[in-house]
Amino acid sequence: MSFWPAVIVATPAHSNVGHALTYRSEQALPVGALVRVPLGKRDTLGIVSACDTECPAAVNATAVKPITAHLGDMPPLGPDWLDLIRFTAKYYQRSLGEVALAALPPDLKKLDPTQLTRRLTRNGKQRAKARVASEPSKENVPEASPEQIAALTGIATATKPVLLFGATGSGKTEVYLQVAAQCLADHPQAQILVLVPEINLTPQLEARFFARFGDEQVVSMHSGLTPAQRLQSWLSAHLGHARVVLGTRMAVFASLPHLQLIVVDEEHDPSYKSQEGARYSARDLAIYRAHSKSGCRVILGSATPALETWYAAEQGRYVRFNMPSRMGGAALPTLRLVDMQRQPKQTVLAAPLMEAIAERAQNGEQSLLLLNRRGYAPVLSCGACQWKSDCPNCSAFRVFHKRDRSLRCHHCGFTERVPHACPSCGNVDIQTVGRGTEQLEELVADRLSAATP
Ligand SMILES: [Zn+2]
Ligand SMILES: [Zn+2]
Repeated sequence: MSFWPAVIVATPAHSNVGHALTYRSEQALPVGALVRVPLGKRDTLGIVSACDTECPAAVNATAVKPITAHLGDMPPLGPDWLDLIRFTAKYYQRSLGEVALAALPPDLKKLDPTQLTRRLTRNGKQRAKARVASEPSKENVPEASPEQIAALTGIATATKPVLLFGATGSGKTEVYLQVAAQCLADHPQAQILVLVPEINLTPQLEARFFARFGDEQVVSMHSGLTPAQRLQSWLSAHLGHARVVLGTRMAVFASLPHLQLIVVDEEHDPSYKSQEGARYSARDLAIYRAHSKSGCRVILGSATPALETWYAAEQGRYVRFNMPSRMGGAALPTLRLVDMQRQPKQTVLAAPLMEAIAERAQNGEQSLLLLNRRGYAPVLSCGACQWKSDCPNCSAFRVFHKRDRSLRCHHCGFTERVPHACPSCGNVDIQTVGRGTEQLEELVADRLSAATP
């Protein structure tokens, strides 16, 4: 007897083969099973999305190819994972195969059944060894502040997504850690997903989770891992061994069969949005994922929530807990806003700023100046004919770099030497417009050397 699995394979986003493809199998395959199938001239990894006992009417049974192999040692991907993939593909208008296969670790796509079995055995052995070697070193749990206690109490009974609106240094991470610890204590198999922006996945943060929950229970998932490490983390999560997964944007797609809690730290951070391949917001998918999995809660943390998150909380779709105070009464730095409209024309550095920098320099201290313009000036312009240094390939201007006398487009990389005269009218007096970091550096150095005789 033959079975007719529908298999999700990686297909280009807008090709006509966006749906699952029918194959033939001599055995019944569970939904979510991984298989290797022929696709054109290639042999590729696929995910079983359904398995019929009869060939679909629209398909010519004699032309259907058999699957190459069933990766039967691996438990199938769960229904909630497949649901997340289906939702993502539909909502962000990509093919199911593109989203599904991009969500799996690259190394998984290369393995045949024998290699996978070997990999699973090794994973099991490493796990046994790790369990013997590392007893979770219990970190000292600091005493919670009244605000943290209020948030923890509220979160424990919240039935909606939680917005933890906590100032920088108010101890949001400690709240995550304690909610996570409680969740693990309440459910013997529970898994927790902690999402952080790319830049925030620091060794210090990892160390805090490792210290609290033990190396054996925590895995991380981010682009800095080798393909082999990524596969190992992914397998640990999929097999239910990893209780806490700490990861960046892509970790929202991790297979977590016992997911009970999702934390999205710095939920406003733009790095949660994928800007290449399938576009998606990991924060929004985290909300969907928690919503569609029964019993799963979600906490969004931020000192500066995204407007849409704030609005959802105002509307009562999310519940908000406030932690405005800093731990240990640490004071915020004093900020001063200088209105440049009220400064004399052509002012680059306002007098109070320049005085403050000079004072720091006199004390042998350092200052950090930030400016979001590269090069010496963002545009060169000819006063005689209105020529501007625009890029022939883009709609952007080419930036003037004084150091190597180049005009560079920072969109397409087009670089030329600075012309000696206006390329349009021959005027030799070309002006810079605006200022970049090179010019600022020159100016500050000049002012400081003038200030110190
Ligand atoms: Zn000109
Ligand atoms: Zn360009």
